[in-house]
Amino acid sequence: MSNLQNPPTLNTKNPLGFWDGALSALSRELSPQQFKTWIQPLSLVSFDESERLLTVGAPNRFKLDWIKKTFADRFQELAVQYFGKATNISFVLAVESAAPTTPTTKLGIEPNSSDSSTTSVGNPIISVEEQSFEIEDHSKLNPNLTFETFVTGKANQLARAASIQVAHNPGISYNPMFLYGGVGLGKTHLIHAIGNHLLKEKPNARIRYIHAEQYVSDVVRAYQQKAFDRFKRYYHSLDLLLIDDIQFFSGKSRTQEEFFYAFEALSSNKSQVIITSDTYPKEMAGIDDRLISRFDSGLTVATEPPELEMRVAILMKKAASEGIPMGEDIAFFVAKHLRSNVRELEGALRKILAFVRFHGREVTIEVARAALKDLLSIQNRQISVENIQKAVADFYSIKVVDMYSKKRPANIARPRQIAMFMAKELTQKSLPAIGELFGGRDHTTVLHAVRKIADERAHDSQLNHEIHVIEQTLKA
Ligand code: ADP
Ligand code: MG
Repeated sequence: MSNLQNPPTLNTKNPLGFWDGALSALSRELSPQQFKTWIQPLSLVSFDESERLLTVGAPNRFKLDWIKKTFADRFQELAVQYFGKATNISFVLAVESAAPTTPTTKLGIEPNSSDSSTTSVGNPIISVEEQSFEIEDHSKLNPNLTFETFVTGKANQLARAASIQVAHNPGISYNPMFLYGGVGLGKTHLIHAIGNHLLKEKPNARIRYIHAEQYVSDVVRAYQQKAFDRFKRYYHSLDLLLIDDIQFFSGKSRTQEEFFYAFEALSSNKSQVIITSDTYPKEMAGIDDRLISRFDSGLTVATEPPELEMRVAILMKKAASEGIPMGEDIAFFVAKHLRSNVRELEGALRKILAFVRFHGREVTIEVARAALKDLLSIQNRQISVENIQKAVADFYSIKVVDMYSKKRPANIARPRQIAMFMAKELTQKSLPAIGELFGGRDHTTVLHAVRKIADERAHDSQLNHEIHVIEQTLKA
């Protein structure tokens, strides 16, 4: 590969390291769709040391404009975070940037192209010698992910307690530690916290954080370069191996075999292994049984979705640490609307902070509502059957209980049918589930109502209008 012939000189802070980190930060911050559309097509073009100028290429004018408008600040922030001093980022059309005019360090990373001799930065490929095996003091730990910045609640107290225990007694108490849970629930954060803690206590400890996907490509490269000895020497000699999202090993038998040896070597040295996954060991698909039984042989602990109070605490803590305090009432407002995970909360917070900085205002509920307009409207579209029952009952001036009652007078039966029809239209619920929510009615009753109202609506403009109005109140 042409790009590997001139690897940049390696010091601890290098443009590739920055780019790697920036992409992984953005992949955490953005939806996969956004990341794929906007960030992945970018390429790192050049780095001018003397000017401290990083040039990033975008594949077309449209993306270039959008990137400048939307992501330039964030890239700038990440650059300052990484390099610790003023570093500027300029965005150019990738075609133009192919021939840099200033004497810059050519990174050997070309703008995206189908030419197999070039490498897209969306999936940076870094030579084996350069990063994976020889650089033994490169832990890849993110110093910001610590126990101090981790907010505790019911949902994660066990996972946190176990992590602290392991951080204090690596290789002794629980080996391996297997941490599992859904996306954005703090697994990666916790294992970095363990690594950072150990690094502080024992600066000479040989620690390595690696994402399972990167481990897979290391294996591939070691294989291609017949460098398994070096690979083994490196991985088998660690004091602490943190391996993230091991579900990526699924179906990769060569990697699994190699990891099995590493695991055996590490645990017989009393070196600590910590693994994360999106599910618990026995539930993992495409993973060798002997690995699963190893995974299950230490401590297995889960991170759960955060409860309301914890979401509030996380928002307030993160806002404060950004220097823009958020009142409890506002944090409650946001936390009530965003329920799924911490990553989502962080995304919301970032939007609010950007809004506040841009408009020079304080954080208020109105500001939060304005900043989160899109997010909240998505939430609002998730209409529940209960809301529908209430809205329809209100509209026709009947009691909500009549939605579940067995009464049949027309002034009740008809609104009830309308509500069933709307439940089918506006929610993801099945007919039996809807029947259940209407006082345990049979699904055929629901089906009958749905068909009847759909039919009538087609030529009864009054009814059509009424349904429309109710829908509007539900979406408001
Ligand atoms: P996972 O690895 O489980 O998908 P992450 O560890 O990447 O989740 O967490 C997503 C984001 O949320 C990260 O920025 C992380 O720092 C933050 N986060 C998760 N849990 C907490 C917590 N309890 N306190 C503070 N920040 C958290
Ligand atoms: Mg993770």
